[in-house]
Amino acid sequence: MPKFDTIVIGAGAMGSAAAYHAAKSGQRVLLLEQFEIDHQRGSSYGYSRIIRYVYDYPIYIRLAQLAYPQWRELEAEVDENLMVTADGVTFSPPDDHDYTATLATMREMEIPLEEITPEELVYRYPQFRVPPEMSVFLQAETAVLRASRCVRAHVRLAERHGAVVKENTPVTQILPNAQGVEVVTATETYSAARLIITAGGWMRALMGSLGIDLPLVPIAAQENYFIPENPGEYEIGRFPVFLAHLKHEFGYMMYGLPSIDGSGVKIGLHGADPLDPDGDRIPDRAQIGKAQAFGEKYLNGAVKTHKQSRVCIYTMTPDEHFIIDQHPEYAHVVFASPCSGHGFKFSNVIGQLLAELAVSGQSSFDISFFRLSSPKK
Ligand SMILES: Cc1cc2nc3c(=O)[nH]c(=O)nc-3n(C[C@H](O)[C@H](O)[C@H](O)COP(=O)(O)OP(=O)(O)OC[C@H]3O[C@@H](n4cnc5c(N)ncnc54)[C@H](O)[C@@H]3O)c2cc1C
Repeated sequence: MPKFDTIVIGAGAMGSAAAYHAAKSGQRVLLLEQFEIDHQRGSSYGYSRIIRYVYDYPIYIRLAQLAYPQWRELEAEVDENLMVTADGVTFSPPDDHDYTATLATMREMEIPLEEITPEELVYRYPQFRVPPEMSVFLQAETAVLRASRCVRAHVRLAERHGAVVKENTPVTQILPNAQGVEVVTATETYSAARLIITAGGWMRALMGSLGIDLPLVPIAAQENYFIPENPGEYEIGRFPVFLAHLKHEFGYMMYGLPSIDGSGVKIGLHGADPLDPDGDRIPDRAQIGKAQAFGEKYLNGAVKTHKQSRVCIYTMTPDEHFIIDQHPEYAHVVFASPCSGHGFKFSNVIGQLLAELAVSGQSSFDISFFRLSSPKK
């Protein structure tokens, strides 16, 4: 039976980063992925993901403080540009609870931000059409990560550090024991001293087989891309990332990203209905309609032509905080669901923490907030 120090299940954003960090620290690593690397059925594929300090919980700001420099280090190692600074706009009706809590937390954490009026916003970014009663702030370090390139970079570097990567290799059974673990696939059974499980929308089923029922619900998050009337105005560098607290109007918070690498401008809803991760992925016309309605009301000429929509998975926890923990009986089995639609930006740091946890049971950043036993205040 082929033997490794660490096996990682799932090569999305989290698993690819965990494999990279484990391999870089000298572990003999096996990374198993049920589909091909950078496939479209999980959560991590695509042109772009937001990275921001804009959060209402200090722990995510602390993670972002680690993540930003670590993405730059990865860029240097892989010799590729992965993160592009874009500026970030947040707006909401006055007295919105999430908006106010975000401002308070960012101030407490001394994150620079600029409160401006809607008129000033329109002066700086004429692409917006925001009513005068809205509250607005800017956070200049908000950036866009080239998502698929990040995943591929982690996989490529993991291999460079000696990891074995097996695509199209679904794990069918996990057999932990006191010393390690056996991982069964259709063609081979592998053994290792430790296991990291980062299976995205498939986590609940996989962890259920180990006696742990995770409170996870995969939902059909949809990316909608549009070609604007004047495409140049919506390119990265000209148009910022935005978060719009308009749940009362659209059912969910709205967000958007500038066009990057020919993507078109992206507009999405931060929420959707549950989906079966193995089922069909047919874009929802109603979500496209809401993105279009948002664009017509709050932007100028952004949504002239619908280019494409793609259904991706948000794996949601009830409180939208991440789950990162160890198996109660087998501490060398570490598992993580850092999604709820906002995990990508931290995947480099979380990968490192998972590798540390698997090897020593300790991590350089306190993850107790993310353990299943945490009361999550
Ligand atoms: C539309 C959309 C927009 C988003 N926007 C942002 C954003 O702007 N900023 C941000 O920070 N985050 C964002 N997120 C969230 C972020 O992308 C996710 O948190 C992150 O990608 C989760 O990565 P993952 O590795 O946990 O899951 P995945 O990428 O799904 O990876 C899990 C992998 O495990 C594999 N797998 C499952 N079961 C098995 C098995 N039995 N054997 C082998 N392999 C298996 C799967 O095939 C998959 O490749 C967004 C997500 C979506 C969908």
